[in-house]
Amino acid sequence: MSEARSAELFARAGAVLPGGVNSPVRAMRAIGRDPLFIARGEGAEIVDADGNRYVDWVCSWGPLVAGHAHPAVLDAVIAAARLGTTFGAPTEGEVELAEEVRRRMPAAAMLRMTSSGTEASMTAIRLARAATGREAIVKFAGAYHGHADGLLADAGSGLATAGIPASPGVPQAVAAKTVTIPWNDPAALGEAVERHRPAAIIAEGLPANMGLVPPADGFLELLREHASSSGALLVLDEVISGFRVARGGVQELAGVVPDLVLLGKILGGGLPAGAVGGSPELMQLLAPAGDVYQAGTLSGNPLAVAAGRATLELLDDGAYEHLARITALLADGLRAAAAGHPVCVQSAPGLLTVFFSEGPVRSLEQAKACDLGAHATWCRALLASGVYPPPSQFEAWFPSLAHTPEHVERTVSAAETAFAGLSRARRGAA
Ligand code: PMP
Repeated sequence: MSEARSAELFARAGAVLPGGVNSPVRAMRAIGRDPLFIARGEGAEIVDADGNRYVDWVCSWGPLVAGHAHPAVLDAVIAAARLGTTFGAPTEGEVELAEEVRRRMPAAAMLRMTSSGTEASMTAIRLARAATGREAIVKFAGAYHGHADGLLADAGSGLATAGIPASPGVPQAVAAKTVTIPWNDPAALGEAVERHRPAAIIAEGLPANMGLVPPADGFLELLREHASSSGALLVLDEVISGFRVARGGVQELAGVVPDLVLLGKILGGGLPAGAVGGSPELMQLLAPAGDVYQAGTLSGNPLAVAAGRATLELLDDGAYEHLARITALLADGLRAAAAGHPVCVQSAPGLLTVFFSEGPVRSLEQAKACDLGAHATWCRALLASGVYPPPSQFEAWFPSLAHTPEHVERTVSAAETAFAGLSRARRGAA
């Protein structure tokens, strides 16, 4: 299949966009190739600039839980756009969306919308510091909460993908306020909280930015206990898991009530949106109700709100059954395809990661110890067979309502071919 047009666009992009992209993982460097430029999406499939078609398991990294160009979402966005794209004044849709979020997630009794998950994290941290009068933040290695200065230490996603432990340009004084500890390590958690008396413990409820590494039994509950007993706020980042793993996110499944919740991705249904939610007591510290400043020209943008509302409307009980069924089918199929290879598929309803190690993978260290070279070769082979996986081990696959058992079959068959190629390469090298 030709990739001439993508190659031409990437050459042009390199002159005007750093690395040729507007977000690092898109560049596909981790799997040793250049990116494909995407021309359009239809349901669970995307078509690149050369007309090649792929089963898409990235789905824009999570927002497209309904698949590409879902008619109900498009209709809502087009109807909203006809009325004007932004006003910088409140609209009815924002109230309706916040009410729907509160029905699904009682902990988010009030909501402040932003245009990205990064902004939601920044707002939550400022709020937590203002509410507690403390400055330290405890975060977990391999967790990604966006690219704010204080949250990049040992972060997952693009930083783990590129092997960057900390970013240049972050002031020492800011980095020093962030205490990073290993995920799923109760002793390290207890010690960090005791020693640093943080303003907040911030965690992905279902970490997916070092690949999917679920909390060990009782670990989220332990976060809650330590936050409560030390006077810190528990900030649960559900930018990925929110509305994906269950109606009310991972907090519903785990029965853990956070002080602040971070939302994004599905909340905006494929348009830019994020939010921080919490109790009225905390949230009313934000301006103009309180004096903790936070703002945004396009926050609660009518198009994003329309796309988010339409997407949430699609997410009924049947939708969650479908996501769980497709994810299980995909996970089982990939496990079967990988038989005989040191590969471990970790999944939760609505997302999964294929780790190239015997597993289980319980921490960033273990994720980093995977055979990233074999993963890269495997991903390139999938692309050559018309399957578009997340082009990094430190990310998750995102099934959607548009994925069918037939898409899973095509994917598993491509995966078998790709594993067979790895076996041949190993035999050749031996
Ligand atoms: N939190 C989590 C868990 C995420 O996965 C991401 C982005 N992948 C963010 C926060 C940041 O969101 P955004 O890219 O919208 O700034």
